[in-house]
Amino acid sequence: MNIRKNDTVLVIAGKDKGKKGRVRFAYPKDERILVEGINFIKMHSRATGRVRQAGIIERESPFHVSNVMLLCSRCDHPARVGFRILEDGRKVRFCRACGEVVD
Ligand SMILES: [Zn+2]
Repeated sequence: MNIRKNDTVLVIAGKDKGKKGRVRFAYPKDERILVEGINFIKMHSRATGRVRQAGIIERESPFHVSNVMLLCSRCDHPARVGFRILEDGRKVRFCRACGEVVD
């Protein structure tokens, strides 16, 4: 998966298309991410105990990583991400637009 926690991403599909946000969680196994301020869903909750309030609450929910592109911090473009192996054997991501290593 080419998106990781704390990346800034641009949403390219769905109802939040065009919005930017920071990746709060990444779930590589499911290829899903949770992004700040993106993909709010309404959840109907019932009061259980003292803590939770009854009613409709909105919260972010994870969505598939293919709906976003990485925003390159260098050139500020939505970047297609490439992988490159460094001399010390580390595998890093880089921005295909400007060539900058993202990791
Ligand atoms: Zn770039």
